[in-house]
Amino acid sequence: FALNIPTSKTVTCSVSKAVIWSGGRNVAEFQHQQPCKAFQTYHVKEHNETALPKLYETLREHISCRLKDMQAFEAVLSEVDIVINELYYAIDNLSSWLKPEYVSKNLATKLDDCFVQRQPLGVVLIIGPWNYPLQLLLIPLVAAIAAGNCVLIKPSEVSAATDSLIAELIPKYLSQDCYAVVHGGAEETKALLQNRFDHIFYTGSQTVARSIMQAASIHLTPVTLELGGKCPCIIYGKIDITAAARRIAWAKFFNAGQSCVAPDYVLCSPANRDALLPELRKVLENFYGKDPQTCPDFSRIVSPRHWTRLMELLGKSSGKVVLGGESSQEDKYIAPTVLVDVAEDDALMQEEIFGPILPILTIESLEKGIELINRKEKPLALYAFSDESSVVNTVLQNTSSGGFCSNDGIIHMTLPSLPFGGVGASGWGSYHGRWGFEAFSHRRAVMLRGWALERLNGLRYPPYSEDKLSW
Ligand code: NAD
Repeated sequence: FALNIPTSKTVTCSVSKAVIWSGGRNVAEFQHQQPCKAFQTYHVKEHNETALPKLYETLREHISCRLKDMQAFEAVLSEVDIVINELYYAIDNLSSWLKPEYVSKNLATKLDDCFVQRQPLGVVLIIGPWNYPLQLLLIPLVAAIAAGNCVLIKPSEVSAATDSLIAELIPKYLSQDCYAVVHGGAEETKALLQNRFDHIFYTGSQTVARSIMQAASIHLTPVTLELGGKCPCIIYGKIDITAAARRIAWAKFFNAGQSCVAPDYVLCSPANRDALLPELRKVLENFYGKDPQTCPDFSRIVSPRHWTRLMELLGKSSGKVVLGGESSQEDKYIAPTVLVDVAEDDALMQEEIFGPILPILTIESLEKGIELINRKEKPLALYAFSDESSVVNTVLQNTSSGGFCSNDGIIHMTLPSLPFGGVGASGWGSYHGRWGFEAFSHRRAVMLRGWALERLNGLRYPPYSEDKLSW
């Protein structure tokens, strides 16, 4: 299978360091400002089978070692190991994913070959966010390559170091004919989006997602939207409170709460709250010591702008800070912070927090907790903590969310056989493992027919008659 992309005329736009070339399709030459030889002919098998191991090599040799030297444990875990896991999975399963999928047949098609063929979509655009800037570009890239597409990668300008590293390593390791990196912020991305792509895979905020969809609609380009939201964590009934505190604190304060699947707020009975608080205090001290600011394992807020947003949100809250609350603008530091007496209409409950601030709200009953969750937009993840399976099941059956995990946080998204994605306002489409391969593939319905049973076909040819209908 070959994809022919003519490279006839130049469309200049204000993309810094980039010239977008457009003929019948999007083609791109980045950095060099020269006409693009790229993306002309693309042989799926040749490239997806060589590119995945090369990507693996890049990660092992250039990124993993550097991070390990820096003892950046959270980065190794969330940026490298998870991608390597995904790469192994894709390499192991690629041949079975690419096989035609034969389907069941009826009497009229008994003699035909009926199957679903997976085809690459063509040239796809992957736009990444600043949090987990490597993982959230490379896992979709693995899927896009596995499915046989040419890929344009647009890292977030906020995580500038990763942006540069990606731009340095991708052309070094992967075919420049098929994979390219483009830099830029909002304005450059808007300009980029004026071009026609065969799929846009976007990870980021709900606000920007609206402009992405708007731009995609001009060319009727399909989109995958990986967005955020407020992920609830509901605790109810009998529970191992020590383990729960440890798991909630890890999921919430990993990367200083800057995770799309971090628990955003906790719902629990007053009794569970009173049991949870001293445990959280102990756990936080065990994790980060008495002063988390001096602990190398506790992250910082990504930028002064994001630090200010979080501090303003904290300032507007009428909740009571019971743990943490300390901050330093200079250091972009906010201590792991827990608030109680937070009401549903509190400032902290109006938008995704995306930082190390955990409000705890009390609920009168499990049903009231579920009602509160259902009054809000469908979240990307939902966590239910309880020893009682009936509690977990009640939450599972009466709510909707992108993913669900009982008695832990974040972990469900590390399993490549589970789809990762949102629902409603938290996103559209999913990926990881086979789900990612499917997101970047066209499922072509194929029926291969011969000349048999022509007498039976006579039933559908004119002249029509009542007799033919009764068949
Ligand atoms: P963002 O929407 O500000 O930026 C994401 C990307 O869009 C960046 O590459 C940026 O350059 C580009 N961009 C920004 N403004 C744009 C515009 N007006 N037009 C076109 N492109 C534009 O998101 P962010 O702040 O980088 O990321 C945080 C958000 O992403 C949070 O809401 C978080 O929950 C969500 N997120 C979701 C997932 C997921 O997997 N579902 C993962 C990480 C983050």
